[in-house]
Amino acid sequence: MSFATPASRKEPLPVLGRDVRVPLVTGGEVAYAALDYAASAPALQRVWDDVAAYAPYYGSVHRGAGYLSQLSTELFENARATIGGFLGCRPDDEVVFTRSTTDSLNLLARAVPDDCRVFVFETEHHAALLPWRRVTYLDAPRTPQEAVRTLERALARRAPGPALVCVTGASNVTGELWPVRELAAAAHAHGARIVLDAAQLAPHHPVDVAALDVDWVAFSGHKLYAPFGSGVLAGRGDWLATARPYLAGGGASRRVVRRADGHVAVEWHGGPARHEAGSPNVIGAHAIASACKALTEAGFASLVARERHLVEKVRAGLAAVPGVRVLSLFGADAPRVGVLSFVVDGWNSSHVAAALSAEYGIGVRDGLFCAHPLVRAVLGGAPDEPGECGAPEAEPGERALNAVRVSFGAGTPDEHVERFVRAVG
Ligand code: PMP
Repeated sequence: MSFATPASRKEPLPVLGRDVRVPLVTGGEVAYAALDYAASAPALQRVWDDVAAYAPYYGSVHRGAGYLSQLSTELFENARATIGGFLGCRPDDEVVFTRSTTDSLNLLARAVPDDCRVFVFETEHHAALLPWRRVTYLDAPRTPQEAVRTLERALARRAPGPALVCVTGASNVTGELWPVRELAAAAHAHGARIVLDAAQLAPHHPVDVAALDVDWVAFSGHKLYAPFGSGVLAGRGDWLATARPYLAGGGASRRVVRRADGHVAVEWHGGPARHEAGSPNVIGAHAIASACKALTEAGFASLVARERHLVEKVRAGLAAVPGVRVLSLFGADAPRVGVLSFVVDGWNSSHVAAALSAEYGIGVRDGLFCAHPLVRAVLGGAPDEPGECGAPEAEPGERALNAVRVSFGAGTPDEHVERFVRAVG
């Protein structure tokens, strides 16, 4: 398999789609500026090349006797090991392949003990907010320290029994970094476990499960430059080993017997196979592993430094525009990944987003970003107001509750961010 030369420290990593040209309403066309990485990031060229190099050797995994089946099984299991290494997993942690972060958190929600109480800040993405059965929602904190104190208070007051905390590493709306290590320490001090939603963190920052001392981590390949339909849940094996399989079917079952009484008895596998019934997405797993290698080789230190420089450009650009408000829980200068949402006084955010696309060839997202309570907490709005994942239409005379989000990452050239700053200026 061929491996592209790692990009130099100052250059963005090569991604697909950079040369795609899109029409402008004003006439002519321009190279598309993808500033919507938080929704889904373009594939790294390296990931695409690795997938293409493997594709001719594709075969069914685990149960095939043929050469390509064996090769594919090895590649699939190597991908698991690579991803475990990338995440800094402990030796006995499991790496389970899923479809996405949403899928990973739903899997975990099914695996928690029946009497487990789950603690979630209202500011989480719906994928982290909604899957749980016995759940306590915590108010939006206004500082990272307040997040820790709020969690400690809630955990201290809870009834005895198992507990789980679910928290994001970086917000998909504000881009702000959450105090994961401190929250993990608080959870453990109160006998609770913690799962990290790293959907927005992993593409921008190293995630070290052991050093952060989180029990599980969930993320999506398509936000990590590997849009081939796979995600990951990694972490402690004990709850997963005793839980009913997430999906029932082949691959998860070790032995299935039709008994004399007519019933079918099943002995389920342990390990990741227990929750990976059906034919797995080998290409998706391989793509994530390839992305992990590419990011590691490029070096997070330089990726973070480069992204910080882009964040500053956007922040300064937006600060210079009258009437712009950047969404934030922890304050305008709080450390964040390459994700910023904003509103412009007197403007409907969906019109701003549409104009950026039509007039400048810039792809951003507008709406509530599947984090309705967070956007309401920051912008104000009735807590019981129904909403949609997209941008709900405002009634005449009413301010629409939505924002514009600009997001970028390892593949973003300066020119895309500069074009955005010019466009909003
Ligand atoms: N958590 C966060 C913080 C996210 O940003 C997203 C995606 N926007 C998800 C979870 C869900 O990810 P997916 O749609 O890939 O399941």
